[in-house]
Amino acid sequence: MLLLATGLFAGCQAASGAPTTSAPVSVAAASTPSVATTMPDTSATPAPTPTATAPTKPLAGRTIVIDPGHNGVWTRRELRKVPSGNGRTKECNSSGTATNAGYPEHAYNWAQANALARALRARGATVRLTRPDDHGEGPCVNLRSKLANDLRADALVSIHADGNLSRGARGFHVIHSPTMTGGTKVEQKSLALAKQVRHALETETPMPRSTYVGGGTALDSRNDLGTLNLSDRPAVMIEMGNMRNATDAALFGSAAFRAKVATALADAVQTFLG
Ligand SMILES: [Zn+2]
Repeated sequence: MLLLATGLFAGCQAASGAPTTSAPVSVAAASTPSVATTMPDTSATPAPTPTATAPTKPLAGRTIVIDPGHNGVWTRRELRKVPSGNGRTKECNSSGTATNAGYPEHAYNWAQANALARALRARGATVRLTRPDDHGEGPCVNLRSKLANDLRADALVSIHADGNLSRGARGFHVIHSPTMTGGTKVEQKSLALAKQVRHALETETPMPRSTYVGGGTALDSRNDLGTLNLSDRPAVMIEMGNMRNATDAALFGSAAFRAKVATALADAVQTFLG
């Protein structure tokens, strides 16, 4: 009598038909704890879907070249002029800037580039850097895009940080070129990538848009940069902030900030490549 009552109760919970037509079956169901506990859970929560394990390597088959701006060492040899595209020449390279505490831009660029490389490789991308380390003299600005061109890379991302002494000047901006060897289509793709980078940085990191470049857009069109001009692949140069600003400088020294930037830039590249 007690077992029969329990069986009927379980039948009501399951909303199944005709629980009284076969007493032995109802009793058996009620006496199996796993049936009583899993049925309400199943009705309340959608079954786990296979899409939970969906593509873990969304950038598989993609090639990204990262350019950590400047070099570990700067000598007067880097004053020699090299082609910089758009009919111009420019010094082989410059030293880059530094924070007021002496953290050099090339070191930040190197650390940030490697954090980004890890993030992209984790998503399946093939990643190459334009210089092998942060010690010696690296390639001149006319060769920074050559690796991306030779590899027919999906994108070239050049990482820099600015040095501006204006009071209160801070924030990131993204540079694109209107005079690329790749032509109009590559220039348009580069602008699209620049906008994706801007969106990712301002939504995923604490670095704000530049207060002093781009009139609030954080975008800057420049025709004097060999790294961008000589690229026939989509390419952007990112000034990640102002090293001379104390707030930005503190962020550059933070591994947690660099990890956030790496994730944001990887998201931007992934969205750009669709
Ligand atoms: Zn720089």
